[in-house]
Amino acid sequence: MKVTAQNLDGLAVARKVKLQVAERVRELAQPLGLAVVLLAADPASRTYAESKVRACREVGIRCEVHDWTHMTDAHEVYQNLCELSANQSLQAIMVEQPYPAFLDPVILYRCIPPEKDVEGISHENLGRLLLGRPIVVAATAAACMRLLDEYAVPMEGKRAVVVGRSNIVGKPLASLLMARNATVTICHRHTPNLAEETRRADILVVSVGQAHLIGPEHVKPGAVVIDVGINFVGGHMVGDVDTEGVRGVAGAITPVPGGVGPVTTALLLLNLVETAQRQLASAT
Ligand code: NAD
Repeated sequence: MKVTAQNLDGLAVARKVKLQVAERVRELAQPLGLAVVLLAADPASRTYAESKVRACREVGIRCEVHDWTHMTDAHEVYQNLCELSANQSLQAIMVEQPYPAFLDPVILYRCIPPEKDVEGISHENLGRLLLGRPIVVAATAAACMRLLDEYAVPMEGKRAVVVGRSNIVGKPLASLLMARNATVTICHRHTPNLAEETRRADILVVSVGQAHLIGPEHVKPGAVVIDVGINFVGGHMVGDVDTEGVRGVAGAITPVPGGVGPVTTALLLLNLVETAQRQLASAT
C-alpha cells in the first residue's frame, strides 16, 4: 500500500485559535480595530485583505481596508502610514504583501510602531525575537511553529531545513526553530544543490513563491513538510510544494490552501488582542 502523508490541517488549527481570540475579545470588552493597507494592485493581496476582514468579523474586531494602490510616491506612502499609525482608535496596522518596487520595506516597517505591529516584522519585534526575548512573533513564522506544536512534531535535536531567507518568514522561523533546539539550515536561490540539503531535513519548511519547486525527490521519507508558498496557477492557489507527489514520501504535510495561511491570519488576530491588552495595561 502506498504511504500517504498525514494532513496538517491549518483550518482546524485556525478555528481553535479564533475561538480563543473571540473569548479574549469578549473579556476585553472594548472596541478593537485593525487597519490593513493595500499598496500593490495585486488581486491576491486584495483577497488576503478580504479574508482578514472576514476573520475579524468572526471574532468581533473591526477591520478597515485602506486602498493606497493609486499612490506612486514613496514619501506620500510613508507619511500616510505614519499618520494612520497614530490613530488612537486602531490597535494594529499591517501592510499587505507584495509591496511595490518603489518602496523600501525597511522604511515601511519603521512607520509602524512596534506596539501596533501585529505581523511582528518591525525592527524592534524582529530584533527581540533574535535576542530570544520576543513580544510579538512574526505571524507566518509563528504559524509554522503552531502547526508543528499542534501536531506534536518533535523539534529538539532534529534537522530542520528552511528554504527561503526572507525577513518576514525564513529568518524569524530559523530563529524560532533554533530556540527549540533544532539544527537549522537555511537555503536560498544561491544554494547549489537544493535537493541534497532538503533531503536531510526531518522538518522541511518552504517559503519561496515558486509553484511546485519541491518535489518528492527533495524530501526525506517520513519528513514533516510545511508549505508557506502561495502561487496562482491557472486561477488556482498552489504552494511551493508538489503536494500530491510529496504525499507519497513525507510523513506529514500542510495543504495549500488550508495550511499555513489561515493559521497566520488567526495568529495575527491573537497578536492584536495581546497588543490591545498590553496597551490597556500600560495606560492604567
Ligand atoms: P520572498 O518572496 O521575500 O523571497 C523568496 C525567497 O526564496 C528568497 O529568500 C530567495 O532566495 C528564495 N528562493 C527563490 N528561488 C529559490 C530557489 N529556486 N531555490 C531556493 N530558494 C529560492 O519570501 P517570502 O516573503 O517568505 O514569501 C515566499 C512565499 O510565501 C510567497 O509565495 C508568499 O506569497 C508566501 N507567503 C505566505 C504566507 C502565508 O501566510 N501563507 C505569508 C507570507 C508569505
